[in-house]
Parts: sequence; C-alpha cells; structure tokens
Amino acid sequence: MKPPPVVYHGPDTVDEAVRLLAEHGAHAKVLAGGQSLVPMLNMRLTAPSRLIDVNRLDELAYVRTDLEGVRVGALARHADVERATHAFEAVPLLRQAVRTVAHPTIRNRGTTVGSLVHADPCAEMPAVLALLDGELLLRSERGGERVVKAADFFVGPMESACQEDELAVEAYFPKPKGRTGTDWREMSRRNGDYALCGVGTSVRVTEAGEVTSAKAVFIAMGPMPRVVDVTAAGADWDAAAEIAVEQLEPEDDIHASAEYRKHLARILTARSLRASYEAVAP
Ligand SMILES: Cc1cc2nc3c(=O)[nH]c(=O)nc-3n(C[C@H](O)[C@H](O)[C@H](O)COP(=O)(O)OP(=O)(O)OC[C@H]3O[C@@H](n4cnc5c(N)ncnc54)[C@H](O)[C@@H]3O)c2cc1C
Repeated sequence: MKPPPVVYHGPDTVDEAVRLLAEHGAHAKVLAGGQSLVPMLNMRLTAPSRLIDVNRLDELAYVRTDLEGVRVGALARHADVERATHAFEAVPLLRQAVRTVAHPTIRNRGTTVGSLVHADPCAEMPAVLALLDGELLLRSERGGERVVKAADFFVGPMESACQEDELAVEAYFPKPKGRTGTDWREMSRRNGDYALCGVGTSVRVTEAGEVTSAKAVFIAMGPMPRVVDVTAAGADWDAAAEIAVEQLEPEDDIHASAEYRKHLARILTARSLRASYEAVAP
C-alpha cells in the first residue's frame, strides 16, 4: 500500500517547527528518521494530513556528555549514540542496548528521541530511559518547555506523554551513581528482529561488594517498559530474577507464548544481573 497524500513541511529551525505544530498539530505528524512512521503511513495505521520533517534541524543533531549524564538531541540517530565513545564511558547502558536496535541501516536513520516518542513496548531505548530514571525535554508554543520524567512519559503501548503540538527536543540519560554496573541482553528469532524478551539491569555495590541497589527493566513483557527493584534478593541472582518475573504479565502472540517469554525473562534476568554485578564487584 501507499501512504495517503500529505502536505509536506520542512522547517529550518526549531522555532519554525514548533510554530507549525501549534498551527497543525492535531492533523500533523513529526517525521524524524521515518523508520516507524513511514511503515505506519504505508499500512495506513496513521493518516495525518501534514508531515513536519525535522531532518533539517541540525541544531538538534547532537550527543553531549557532561559530568551528570548524556543529552541526546532529537536529530541524533541511533548510530550516533552507538558510536559516541564519551557517551558509552559515562552511561555504558546506552551502547549496550542501542546496538541491539534493529539493523545498522535502520540505526543510521532512526533517531533515539523518535523511538522514545513512538513508545513501542518492544523498543530498547524507552526501557533504557526508564531504568536510568531519565527525562524528555518537550517544547510547544502553548506551554514553552517542559521536562517529563521517564516514569510519566510512557503512558501506554505506542503512547507517550508528548502532546500533538509538542516537539520532543532532547532526551537526558543520567549517569548511574556510585559503583554501578549495567548490562543489556535480549532474545530474538533473528539478529536485528524485535526482541521476544529483553532485559536491562543495573547493580550498585559498595567498595566491599555488598549490593545496595539492583534493578531490572523489561521489554516485550507488557504494555510499557517495566522497572522492577530486586535489591531485596541481595546477590542471589536466581532469586532476584524470580522476584522480577512474578511481577510481569506478558501476553501470548504469534511470536511467542506468555509462558515462553517468562522462561526467557527468568534466564536473561539472572544472567544480566550477574554480569552487571561482575562489572563492578571488587
Ligand atoms: C525493520 C525494522 C526493525 C526495527 N527494529 C527495531 C528494534 O529492534 N528495536 C527498536 O527499538 N526499534 C526498532 N525499529 C524502529 C526504529 O528504531 C525507529 O527508528 C524508531 O522507533 C523511531 O525513530 P524514527 O526517528 O525513525 O521516528 P519516526 O518513524 O520518524 O517517528 C516515529 C513516531 O515518533 C514521532 N516523533 C519522532 N520524532 C519526534 C520528535 N522529535 N518530537 C515529536 N514526535 C516525534 C513521529 O511523529 C512518529 O509518531 C525497527 C524499524 C524497522 C523498520
């Protein structure tokens, strides 16, 4: 199928993009990398009458790292995040997870911020933002700028808190505090496919190796990325995985049964927590 006809806008500045969204937001879609939006247009799962293409907004094509964390502008591609060594050194989970997003060609074009706004429950980067307790910077003509925490940003499957007149400008991924190790792993049928189950973990330890915080986040296991605190299990990773899996409610679909997804989650979580721990244990 072909997409329905649309009026195309190619703003040159963020101000112009925000003005266009104020005027046409109810009937428009922002076009970033197009890796999710264009298939949806072709399948007529969405039918905006206007597209606001943000690909000329070079001012948003950045990945910046400071002492606090990593800021990813709306035009930074997944591949920019993957290649940014400074970002990997500050927040290793970014590269650990983003390299499992689709294939290199899709990562060359798809944007990390676009993936966050798209809020696919099987996507990696929303889960990374949730686990790190990151935030999104949104801008509109109506409300100016507002910052939304990850916990409030993902409101349902394919549904985020970004309103129709808002442009998502930047994502902020805070650097984990103290001695924290992270890990990402997932299982998919073929390399590059969406995961049947994916898990990211972070484990913080004292200098002596005592676990003071252990968390896991899951994709493809429910309508939104789900963060589970498993600190109570200490360094018993099988027990920690069991605590986490008990709180998940995956569904059967054509790719896998709910039971198989839980089986994967149990194994991947224990392995991932152990890897996060071993990355920082004395
Ligand atoms: C074959 C294939 C496999 C894939 N596999 C994976 C995978 O394994 N894991 C994964 O995470 N993703 C996967 N993707 C999706 C890919 O990561 C997309 O690039 C990403 O989800 C969306 O980013 P985009 O820049 O392409 O956004 P677009 O497709 O341009 O936009 C997606 C949505 O977000 C909105 N939007 C985008 N940017 C903004 C903004 N700045 N402000 C407001 N709204 C905005 C758009 O209006 C649209 O509704 C896959 C895609 C394909 C085609």
